[in-house]
Amino acid sequence: MELFNTLTRKKETFSPINAPNVGLYSCGPTVYHYAHIGNHRQTLFTDLLKRVLTFNNYKVKHVMNITDVGHLTSDADEGEDKMLKGAKREGKTVWEIAEYYTQAFKKDLKNLNVIEPDVWCKATEHIKQQIEMIQKLEKNGFIYEAGGNVYFNTSKCKDYGKLAKLDLNAEQQARIETDPNKKNKHDFVLWFTKSKFQDQEMKWPSPWGQGYPGWHIECSAMSSHYLGEQFDIHTGGRDLMPVHHTNEIAQSESAFNKKPWVKYWMHNEFLVMGKDIKMSKSDNEGFITLDVLQKKGYDPLSYRYLLLGTIYRKPMAFTYEALDAAQNAYNKLKQKVLEMIQSPEEGEDTNAETYIEEFQTSINDDLNTPKALAAVWDMLKNEKLNNNKKYKTLLEFDHVLGLGLAKIDIEELPEEIKTLIEKRDHARLHKDWGESDKLRDEIQAKGYTVKDSKEGTKCTKA
Ligand code: AMP
Ligand code: ZN
Repeated sequence: MELFNTLTRKKETFSPINAPNVGLYSCGPTVYHYAHIGNHRQTLFTDLLKRVLTFNNYKVKHVMNITDVGHLTSDADEGEDKMLKGAKREGKTVWEIAEYYTQAFKKDLKNLNVIEPDVWCKATEHIKQQIEMIQKLEKNGFIYEAGGNVYFNTSKCKDYGKLAKLDLNAEQQARIETDPNKKNKHDFVLWFTKSKFQDQEMKWPSPWGQGYPGWHIECSAMSSHYLGEQFDIHTGGRDLMPVHHTNEIAQSESAFNKKPWVKYWMHNEFLVMGKDIKMSKSDNEGFITLDVLQKKGYDPLSYRYLLLGTIYRKPMAFTYEALDAAQNAYNKLKQKVLEMIQSPEEGEDTNAETYIEEFQTSINDDLNTPKALAAVWDMLKNEKLNNNKKYKTLLEFDHVLGLGLAKIDIEELPEEIKTLIEKRDHARLHKDWGESDKLRDEIQAKGYTVKDSKEGTKCTKA
């Protein structure tokens, strides 16, 4: 398998630390609002990666965090507290906000047929691990206290910024300082005791005083708690790379003295609206949730199908026209599945090897799903290939695609349609083509497709 590693900016052959086990961590939602379909591009990318790893016989342990404390509206410790912002907007407590939006997020995952992480971890339930990690950093000489807060000193970390390839010299010269307590522009808060926000409800005791953790420390502390001090893959959206992931690496490598902390970093590109505008929770106009799509009549799996048509590393513009096309294609795929179930013996050839090879080569080439989908359709178009073989192969592919194809089954036809089918088959047996055509039109008018097969008339809901 080849995967693009942001750390080296290259496609690399995947080789886990402890094969066949794979440790995978993904930055989950900040639960102060509904997730939008851009966030779900990240969720679905990680789900795809997991499915491809499993298809290749790896045993994946997936950990996803829930950020319910400490994340300010800017990734770099500036702006408002995201959870407080949500609580004020809705007149609820931060705890209520966190619980409500966590459940909403999990519901979306179910609707998108996303395999649940093996471990969900909330930042507020791992305060102890975060404090222990800051203590390790303190022991190793990487922190300082100023203005009541505890900071990570980036100048002590020789390769700070390696993931995003930050040019620190150039940036230091252009520095615009917003926090006078910081010794260096990129220093960040590990623990707040002097909150800028008056009604801060979430507070815990710590060696540095009553307070709460900064945002970045939760991911380092929880991933190492569940996956060990070194693990295989870390994912997230591209926006997290320059600050959040950069800081995760700095604090983890400084605390554990092990490099690299994570072997492969993988980032998805954005879902954009119109001309290159990233869909974002702070932008109310460009904010489309899965719920909105469902209310407009779209199947969440049509959105999943839409994303499969673009490589995860390419920006993708969202339009309803594109979603319509995806929904049509997905419906067509489901229709094909029904036909295969109804006429399993159609087609003589039972060799699907070329398609299996094409599919596997594509997904193993850094998750090239557009090419994998092309292999699927090539297979379905081959009329010589036996339907039963096609169906079984397609269900294998669907372990990766996640389109819920195994759940599709022939629905029980209404009695009225069954009677019309019987009459039509009787007419055809007696070569009464006029009557047969009349009955076909009648069935179609009732919203069913009609197909002739060796066994007689086959109908499905159109
Ligand atoms: P948040 O809930 O804002 O912390 O974001 C959760 C995840 O969604 C992060 O990994 C982000 O990088 C990712 N993300 C946010 N906006 C987009 C977008 N428009 N397209 C793709 N991924 C996104
Ligand atoms: Zn994170």
